Amino acid sequence: MEEPQPLTEADEILPPRPPALCPGCSHRAAYYAMKQVFGADAIFPSDIGCYTLAVDMGTIDTCLCMGASINLASGIRFGGEHRDICCSIGDSTFLHNGMPGLLNAVYNNAKITVTILDNLTTAMTGHQPHPGTGVTATGDKTKSVSIEALANALGADFVETVGPYDLNATLETFRKAKECQEGLSVVIAKQACITNARRAGVRRKPFRVNDNCVGCGECVDFGCPAIEFHEDRARINSLCTGCGVCAQICPSDAIEEVVNVK
Ligand code: SF4
Ligand code: SF4
Repeated sequence: MEEPQPLTEADEILPPRPPALCPGCSHRAAYYAMKQVFGADAIFPSDIGCYTLAVDMGTIDTCLCMGASINLASGIRFGGEHRDICCSIGDSTFLHNGMPGLLNAVYNNAKITVTILDNLTTAMTGHQPHPGTGVTATGDKTKSVSIEALANALGADFVETVGPYDLNATLETFRKAKECQEGLSVVIAKQACITNARRAGVRRKPFRVNDNCVGCGECVDFGCPAIEFHEDRARINSLCTGCGVCAQICPSDAIEEVVNVK
């Protein structure tokens, strides 16, 4: 048999395609705000889920096994780390295996921030429901467990839920969590998965770049696949799902909702 040779041309032809969150995914806004508040020097343990696709955003330092992020965060704290520690875990993963970690961290007085990225589904493995969604795996209605009530019951010193599409509110919630003097803070960043929402028929108006654009690239750095850079300025393509977060980031007021779309 002839030994297969690697296709070296592929490296030259194909553009690099790093992992990316979906256009309009609320995890991107939550991580953006987290990075703004905690800064590049903080430690960001993370977990396994669709949010791990945000690995390029600088807020995912570890990904070990399902539910490990909170344990790693407290382990790093008690290993002698003095910098801020903000870990992240998805709603499904938290309900599956994150709760004992949170209880243990509270019990041991770990001064960390735990971010629960609540997109109301188990997106990475196919949008299965979980105990927080109010439906069973067979689609029957059931009780919906409140993640906020659980975090309070497990003893967290600060618990606040915020919608990540509201960037200022999200920044403010992370600031309060960071400054929580008592000990462990929990931020629940809650917004339905954009893919699930669109399947359910939700359609937001798309956004566009107007003539105010000065080409600073801040919106491009945000990393939404719907934002491109073309001839020294940004433009938004047809992948836009209308989350509106890039418009809140642009310093030149150059991103606006397309008003005349049905
Ligand atoms: S952030 Fe605003 S001004 Fe800067 S490139 Fe994007 S649209 Fe243009
Ligand atoms: S509004 Fe901006 S960030 Fe949101 S999906 Fe459209 S281009 Fe992406």
